[in-house]
Amino acid sequence: MSFPSDLDIAGRAMLQPLTEIAEGAGIPLQHLEPYGSGAAKVRLEAIDEMGDRPPAKYVVVSAITPTPLGEGKTTTAVGLGMGFSHIGKRGVIAIRQPSMGPTFGIKGGAAGGGYSQVVPMELLNLHLTGDMHAVTAAHNMCSAALDAHLYHGNESGLDLHRITWRRVLDVNDRSLRNAVIGLGGRLDGVPRESGFDITAASEVMATLALCTSLQDLRERLGRIVVGYTTAGTPVTAEELKVAGAMAVILREAIKPNLMQTLENTPALVHTGPFGNIATGNSSIVADRLGIRMGDYLITEAGFGADMGAERFFNIKCRASGLAPDAAVLVATVRGLKAHSGNHRIIAGRPLPDAILDENPDEVHQGGDNLRKQLENMRIHGCTPVVAINAFPGDHDRDIAAIREIAEEYDARSAVSTHFTDGGAGATELAHAVAEASEEESRFEVLYPDDMSLRDKITTVAQKVYGADGAEFSPAAAKQLDSYEANGFGNLPVCIAKTHLSLSHDASLKGAPTGWTLPVREVRASVGAGFVYPICGDMRTMPGLGKSPALQHIDIDADGEIVGLS
Ligand code: ADP
Ligand code: MG
Repeated sequence: MSFPSDLDIAGRAMLQPLTEIAEGAGIPLQHLEPYGSGAAKVRLEAIDEMGDRPPAKYVVVSAITPTPLGEGKTTTAVGLGMGFSHIGKRGVIAIRQPSMGPTFGIKGGAAGGGYSQVVPMELLNLHLTGDMHAVTAAHNMCSAALDAHLYHGNESGLDLHRITWRRVLDVNDRSLRNAVIGLGGRLDGVPRESGFDITAASEVMATLALCTSLQDLRERLGRIVVGYTTAGTPVTAEELKVAGAMAVILREAIKPNLMQTLENTPALVHTGPFGNIATGNSSIVADRLGIRMGDYLITEAGFGADMGAERFFNIKCRASGLAPDAAVLVATVRGLKAHSGNHRIIAGRPLPDAILDENPDEVHQGGDNLRKQLENMRIHGCTPVVAINAFPGDHDRDIAAIREIAEEYDARSAVSTHFTDGGAGATELAHAVAEASEEESRFEVLYPDDMSLRDKITTVAQKVYGADGAEFSPAAAKQLDSYEANGFGNLPVCIAKTHLSLSHDASLKGAPTGWTLPVREVRASVGAGFVYPICGDMRTMPGLGKSPALQHIDIDADGEIVGLS
């Protein structure tokens, strides 16, 4: 019998009323705002009212450098959350809301998979409670205010060639990347070149993810820089007088969304910032709520530990003041085999046959990547646990090889079969994480606020990526100087590079050494609160492939969704 599809498994879920999920997690019911039966928003007042409950242990889930297929962080985060209830503890999960662009593009959904899913998965993967659309609306209102400002005389003196604020939509549409707007007659606006990014890449999304309260959101929105004058002075959303209205549009979107897993574990699904040019982490407000909801709060950080977890430590925790108690590093047999450099895995294509053969030596050959990513947890003072995400068909000796690498590194490891077995398959992992989080937390950020931006970038490149250093193009050097001069030098850095290698070159597997990080350009998300150096080509508006997922998604005769995975 073939393994049922995610949608089939999700369709058979026995959902509990969210009022029961909320009650079990100590959320005062007057702060629960149901959106239909599958999701409810939680008012931020609950955070303060729940403040006297003991804080949960805070666990971040990250991974080895992934293959384009993903190594199973969401699936493992969900499985671990469910696993805790099998050892008599209460887990709570916090994940990002997926963007509809990739859902209908290449990736499919992002609600976990197999018997480790957040449900209803179609709700999670599609509009949920409309937060994405609110981010789109708030972002585009700022764009509209900006263009109206230009039309009405450009009082601020914005340089038309130095406007950085674009427009956003939640769709994969490459033909919107570059656009000329304001065409027509004199009454139709000021013609200029601009374009669209996907909503997940909006600075408004990153700001929503990193704010700590509605007032903090309002202030951060005001600090958003939309462009520069000819003299190089930043012009902000506050100066356009649009920040207040943006905050009003986001008033509902700032409330975390409560859902549940297949086993009725509470799951907070909130915000979905991009993982390359932004933090790739779910929201701070959801974590501040989740930490009062159970014994363990498990939050996922996007991509590998050099990316999402580094930003989790140095950007998210810096902003929230929360400190992790343990980190889970997801590793897979196929992922480590890919790091041997012997295989090429391409998204949308079947796995190469040879990677499915038993070959523990090859797993060991890829071990450098696991060791480096474990080190990336330890240099932040965070105790790692290796979660071996077992795929049906994995060989025991290959799995044992991952354990050996972890043991040699003196890190705990656990095999987890949550994909096929649900929470019952994650009990070994839950025990290991519980043990690791009992160790004294020595969490520290990697660099102080007052270090120069150049030194921050070099520090991350050397200590986290294993580079010799960083080199800055003349354009990047000029931008860094101007950011320091404009007072943005105290912000943390969010380095945009490929997630498929520890380096900036996706073809370099394992843990490459003897290379230098090339910083081509630097941009600033001042409202969200970070500066982002760009190393390589970063797409902020994906395109659709020749046969995208959307071609297989439909409604059947009963009105049910088919083809969503
Ligand atoms: P990430 O969050 O790291 O991107 P996901 O948890 O979304 O990874 O998993 C990536 C894909 O792999 C999903 O389609 C998921 O269903 C599938 N997957 C993850 N773990 C397993 C497993 N153990 N067995 C089979 N498929 C899996
Ligand atoms: Mg994920």
